[in-house]
Amino acid sequence: MTAGGPTWDAVVVGGGVAGLVAARDLAAAGLRTVVLDADAEPGGAVRGHTVAGLRLDAGAESFATRGGTVAAYLGELGLRDRVCLPASHGSWVHLPSGDGPLPRAGLLGIPSEPFAADVRRTIGLVGALRASLDRVLPARVGAAAPSLGALVRARLGARVLDRLVRPVVAGVHASDPDDLDVGAVSPGLPAALRESRSLTRAVRTLRASAPAGSAVQGIEGGLHVLVDTLVADLRAQGVEVRTGTRARRLRPDPAEAVAYDVELGEGTALRTRRVVLASPAAADLLAEHAPGGSLPSLDAGAVVTLVTLVVDAPALDGAPRGTGVLVAREASDVTAKALTHATAKWPWLARTVPAGRHVVRLSYGRAGDADRVPDDEDALVDLGLRDASVLLGARLDRSVLVGSAVVRWTQALPRPSAAHREAVAQVRATAAALPGVAVCGAWTAGNGLASVIPDARAAASALVG
Ligand SMILES: Cc1cc2nc3c(=O)[nH]c(=O)nc-3n(C[C@H](O)[C@H](O)[C@H](O)COP(=O)(O)OP(=O)(O)OC[C@H]3O[C@@H](n4cnc5c(N)ncnc54)[C@H](O)[C@@H]3O)c2cc1C
Repeated sequence: MTAGGPTWDAVVVGGGVAGLVAARDLAAAGLRTVVLDADAEPGGAVRGHTVAGLRLDAGAESFATRGGTVAAYLGELGLRDRVCLPASHGSWVHLPSGDGPLPRAGLLGIPSEPFAADVRRTIGLVGALRASLDRVLPARVGAAAPSLGALVRARLGARVLDRLVRPVVAGVHASDPDDLDVGAVSPGLPAALRESRSLTRAVRTLRASAPAGSAVQGIEGGLHVLVDTLVADLRAQGVEVRTGTRARRLRPDPAEAVAYDVELGEGTALRTRRVVLASPAAADLLAEHAPGGSLPSLDAGAVVTLVTLVVDAPALDGAPRGTGVLVAREASDVTAKALTHATAKWPWLARTVPAGRHVVRLSYGRAGDADRVPDDEDALVDLGLRDASVLLGARLDRSVLVGSAVVRWTQALPRPSAAHREAVAQVRATAAALPGVAVCGAWTAGNGLASVIPDARAAASALVG
């Protein structure tokens, strides 16, 4: 290689879980690797933060159990004994007509049994009767549905969509079911649907294959323990994890068969033969190499604001709304779209707090809500206390507040719309034409660790091979 800064075997752009996982496999193959992350801390959406002396997740707090992929990976990292299930209290949906339970045996709010007591309580007899038609409707109904919303509406009716699926999708994906591709949000669902010819039966099949009947698991100590463990493991393998460092340009060296300068600005660049682009910045970094010199924009995702409250409130000891509440858009008395009662959900966390102390996390940021969510942190904490009081049926105000934190996530939850998937295909095609360049991350694999981890390993493996 010629001049142009230090030489690395591999440069990973993005130190979220995708980048860290890819870097670990590159290092294991004996490659001298550096991870660059623009933020002050690595981990992306899985980093931790400290609130009222408690180490908590600042973003993601659980992972989907489908396929057992994430648990198997945690086992490789020596974290098998820390994998845990959420408490089995169940969760609720807040509707203008009152609160109702969410189906325990459901997927994205889609019930597996329309006449189950919890489902009937929330969608009523009329809704349950309409949903039960799913078992007799011909398989072609909904088969060509362009979105998750259209599929649910066609097979189960509007009540299941509005009272169950829409609130869950807003809470989990910060999106609307009418904008989401079915396979992108639930990779196994299209095949299960084709096989069972009924949406509720397909959900039952998928749920039956989840360990211990739970669709999600966590890590004792919080999901950020994964990031802490990965970073420690990488450093032990000699990988440099460089934070506060943004990659600004990717420049192939025409004089070399396969060599790139990853430019960091101010005349600094890293030379390498292998580049993993593990962040949505891939679209910007690859644009000049695309046919025509530009690429369409990836979906930026909704801005999600999380308000964490640590409160001394013994009234919450009985977990009045189970592990949490999702809020239907039509409910005008609350601005939040979801509330997680973290100390009710995670027994390990409950064990770390004094009696009567609780951790509650509210999530804000539906499309079109910008003017309803204040910018000011104090105002957000007040709004969080007010919303939590309504959702949990307990008076929570500043007098019971022990600590709080506000975290804003941007570009962290891309919505897998048709336009986004088309943009991803073009970014991937551009990367594929550059030898030694691989891409990974939630922006291409889909949100959630169950999608991100295998995708990141595949990216690393393509470069090692
Ligand atoms: C609030 C929230 C809650 C979530 N909850 C869950 C959950 O409970 N369960 C679940 O499975 N998933 C959840 N997710 C989704 C999951 O966290 C993500 O899909 C996953 O962590 C994405 O990992 P990633 O590495 O692809 O991207 P990210 O975590 O977004 O990491 C990308 C990294 O790239 C860095 N970067 C960006 N541009 C550059 C650049 N030019 N140069 C260098 N670095 C750059 C960023 O600083 C960032 O650290 C949640 C996400 C959010 C935002």
